[in-house]
Amino acid sequence: MIAQNIQTIKADLPPHVTLVAVSKTKPVAQLMEAYAAGQRIFGENKIQEMADKFEQMPKDIHWHMIGHVQTNKVKYMASFVSLIHGVDSLKLLAEIDKQAAKHERVIDCLLQMHIAQEETKFGLDEAELQNLLDSDTYRNLKNIKVVGLMGMATFTDNQSIIKNEFDTLKSIFDRCAAQHPQFQVLSMGMSGDYQLAISCGSTMVRIGSSIFGNR
Ligand SMILES: *Cc1c(COP(=O)(O)O)cnc(C)c1O
Repeated sequence: MIAQNIQTIKADLPPHVTLVAVSKTKPVAQLMEAYAAGQRIFGENKIQEMADKFEQMPKDIHWHMIGHVQTNKVKYMASFVSLIHGVDSLKLLAEIDKQAAKHERVIDCLLQMHIAQEETKFGLDEAELQNLLDSDTYRNLKNIKVVGLMGMATFTDNQSIIKNEFDTLKSIFDRCAAQHPQFQVLSMGMSGDYQLAISCGSTMVRIGSSIFGNR
């Protein structure tokens, strides 16, 4: 079933869109089914769970941290994480830089933008993003690379609200990419809204329940 789901979704994705299989809460046996079907990028939202799965699984997997990251836990993933989606402060970016330096790595990061109406979702607004990118602290970080932006739309069935939020994120992304050529990745879209996200310019979709079933 998992292999079938991955094939169906991949057949639906344009070639420039990367699929992150969101495997949070799912057992390693199910991730291995996805792996056997060719999937090599997995997204997790808890650092400890991701580290446990990293230990148990093949080493050619790219692990993406898609959840909110606590500063004091960065050290547990700094040796192996390949992309951190949810970075929403300079303080966190500085900690990732420090931990990456210990492993002589450069860790790719996405800055999370607040686009939804809900108060609860993390992220920066455009002014905060601009301040961060313009700061000397940011410019001096050598062991992180901000490669783009990530956002989550409001949890609603109203497609026009979601489309509006995705359009907003895409236009912020385009303004940033014009100034920062290393901005290549726009992570937006989940099981319920990834087709819409792609039509709005997403280059990376994070899909969980449509691959692994409900959590
Ligand atoms: C859980 C999660 C997803 C996947 O959600 P589905 O609706 O199961 O596809 C995507 N992005 C983030 C940040 C998540 O936490």
